[in-house]
Amino acid sequence: MSVEKLVRPEILALKAYHVPPAAGLVKLDAMENPYALSPELRGELAQVLAKVELNRYPDPTGARLRELLARKMCVPAGMELMLGNGSDELLQIITIALARPGAAMMYPAPTFVMYSMYAAFTGMKAVSFPLRADFSLDASAFIERMRAEKPAIVFLAYPNNPSGTLYPQADMEAIIAAAPGIVVMDEAYHAFAEKTFMDRLPAFPNLLVLRTASKLGLAGIRLGYLAARPEWIEQLNKVRSPYNVNVLTQATACFMLERLDVLEAQAAAIRADRDRLAATLAAMPGVTVIPSKANFILVRVPDADATHGALLRRGVLVKNLNAPPTKNCLRITVGTPEENRILVAALKESL
Ligand SMILES: *Cc1c(COP(=O)(O)O)cnc(C)c1O
Repeated sequence: MSVEKLVRPEILALKAYHVPPAAGLVKLDAMENPYALSPELRGELAQVLAKVELNRYPDPTGARLRELLARKMCVPAGMELMLGNGSDELLQIITIALARPGAAMMYPAPTFVMYSMYAAFTGMKAVSFPLRADFSLDASAFIERMRAEKPAIVFLAYPNNPSGTLYPQADMEAIIAAAPGIVVMDEAYHAFAEKTFMDRLPAFPNLLVLRTASKLGLAGIRLGYLAARPEWIEQLNKVRSPYNVNVLTQATACFMLERLDVLEAQAAAIRADRDRLAATLAAMPGVTVIPSKANFILVRVPDADATHGALLRRGVLVKNLNAPPTKNCLRITVGTPEENRILVAALKESL
């Protein structure tokens, strides 16, 4: 028996998603919300969770949570929701369901790395369409390529990770209208962009809107949701593992949705701090800032490897993306005002 002979070659060729240790560091590498819940809310939540029946399987489709999400997130009438163990699981489910032999997926790149990973897992062809050097999208060239490749799935991160770019809405609509397959609008950062295609679902039969609770402040509970027409959700539900969203996640998400104003106020603070931090970074000699509508900022520096290492020695962890097309780029998550101050001071000594 040998690992190399039994494991599929496309899996052997992959690298596992790398998460660096962060203990003791100012953690600005993973787009987490830096704010903890207040002691009062923690106490209330503890009481709610104490009543959860851990010996029982969860509600299989999360009916109460879906109903709350539909209301709080303004899901249009007639659309259905599916819940996932993070939006990552939903991306995987979509890909598994549409990976007919020879089928392709297409996305502007650089973008969220998991799209291409799921293509590799399922044997789909991944068509990566390069963004311009400033990370803007040539929508008409994208549409032309789409006509040639006929992708079953188009993934559009709106705003995009790792650039933070929010593509023009009219370009998105032109792509959705011209797509031969489905378009998944990945709105992981919607709370920071204040732009959404949720309300456009009724207008486009091939549009699916994907969201996550992670970037909003609940990365630890692993909850994603997908809004689409019932005919899509019906098929995708067949691929979903039973009980994929656990009881603690469902109870916590319901608790927080009833107090959504807390998370929305945090998102508003992060948006204001993002704009302040971007202006500060842009004024630093040698730093180029890519305009961001997310809760992170992509910057280009003279030597990203050296700066990343020097920041680490000063106790600050950011994401090093130093490989084309993000050569010499670092992705900095917006932290608390104090964390941002520490980052700026450390960066001044690390360029
Ligand atoms: C972070 C991120 C996700 C994954 O979020 P989870 O719900 O935590 O799995 C999906 N898409 C994009 C573009 C992201 O940046």
